[in-house]
Amino acid sequence: MADFEIPELKEYPVIPTIQEGVMAHSKPFVAKEEFQQALGFPGKLVDNWQQVAIDKMGELSGKYRSLAVFLDSCVKCGACTDKCHYYLGTSDPKNMPVARQDLYRKVYRRYYTFAGKYFPKLVGATDLTKEVLDDWYSYFHQCSQCRRCSVYCPYGIDTAEISMAAREIMDHIGKGQKYCNEIIGKVHKIGNNLGLPEAALQNTLEGLEEDIEEETGVAVKLPLNVKGADILLVTPSADFFAEPHVDGLIGYAKVFHQAGASWTISSYASEAANFAMAAMSSRSASMPLMLSRSSVA
Ligand code: SF4
Ligand code: SF4
Repeated sequence: MADFEIPELKEYPVIPTIQEGVMAHSKPFVAKEEFQQALGFPGKLVDNWQQVAIDKMGELSGKYRSLAVFLDSCVKCGACTDKCHYYLGTSDPKNMPVARQDLYRKVYRRYYTFAGKYFPKLVGATDLTKEVLDDWYSYFHQCSQCRRCSVYCPYGIDTAEISMAAREIMDHIGKGQKYCNEIIGKVHKIGNNLGLPEAALQNTLEGLEEDIEEETGVAVKLPLNVKGADILLVTPSADFFAEPHVDGLIGYAKVFHQAGASWTISSYASEAANFAMAAMSSRSASMPLMLSRSSVA
């Protein structure tokens, strides 16, 4: 195992002195045209990207009441500023939750508030320029959408929702990021984010069956693509290979075995992790899913 220098945890976190722009360079790869188009997004930045982005912004704040409330209700109290680990770890002020939100809010104000339309300087409203878009691409991808900051905000403002909205807008103008969009495509096309086809999945499950039998002496099956099974288990694909996630899958198999249940995993639906959540304003979470025949019906 590699040697790590593990920082000593102090009773209170040390708040770093700000260093403007130190993380401006940090951004993910832009998704290739084929990954974008497979999800129905433009392959590359569209010519009228400002207008498309502004229209999408209006659509999202009309559709999600929480987003509109979050954009309108920040009082700049500063309670969230030192609560993001990306700020604590980088000292870049645009990684403070309130500043991250403001990258979006200042554009929203410019196009969707009376004061921002007519007195932009008074309310910190700005046009959606290429520089602003570059900041969006860097700093909205430096938010892991963990929602820690929202716990400390007296108004419950959730920066993660604003980050999701910004990413969704960027997808719609042709500036999506490779990581999410490539793997969402794989989930659609192959069934899981890893791109594991049926044969590889079968091999993995057989290996786990051998491990369980070696450990317990009991022949526990991990069935794949069984037609007519009563229960369909859809689990995050990390359960197929990563430690300690795989112990969860082994645990499900043992429980089903002991209960005498009729169950199966499907190679066509072998991903319960919701990668779309990182890219879009969706509201669901990542979790194992068990569908019984009655719940499907
Ligand atoms: S939701 Fe984003 S801004 Fe808030 S603490 Fe987590 S990473 Fe930081
Ligand atoms: S804690 Fe909430 S109200 Fe205060 S600055 Fe942060 S987002 Fe705004």
